[in-house]
Amino acid sequence: MNCIFCAIAGGKIPSHKVYEDEHTLAFLDINPISDGHTLVIPKHHHENLLEVSEDDAMSVAKTVKKVANAVKKTFNADGVNVLQANGAAAGQSVLHYHVHVVPRKENDGLKLWPPTKRLGHEGSEMAEKIKENM
Ligand code: AMP
Ligand code: ZN
Repeated sequence: MNCIFCAIAGGKIPSHKVYEDEHTLAFLDINPISDGHTLVIPKHHHENLLEVSEDDAMSVAKTVKKVANAVKKTFNADGVNVLQANGAAAGQSVLHYHVHVVPRKENDGLKLWPPTKRLGHEGSEMAEKIKENM
């Protein structure tokens, strides 16, 4: 399999690692949205959140929390976004599960969320349908 994040996890291509434990790795994104933009991955290959094992999902979540606090402190950030894409339609370009940790400053001008509309009566039926698929 030709996976760039497996290659990073296996030390076959270089990265700026900021944290590593038995199950996860965190390294700087090569095209950062802001200073300190870091990616957290499981060492095992899973395509995305929809496929990842619960154990690796938990390990990644713990590392995300550590990294979020570390980058906030390091870059004197006012906030941190945790973002994650699943599938090409959602903007996923690397098909190895990863979570973006993005330090934010007040008034940094980044717009990561589009304007929304108010949820209407359709909410009840939507919620019921989702529950059926849990
Ligand atoms: P996504 O669009 O959510 O799949 O994010 C993939 C991310 O991986 C992008 O933000 C890329 O900048 C980043 N990326 C791709 N190749 C590398 C690499 N070799 N080292 C670090 N980050 C990378
Ligand atoms: Zn991989």
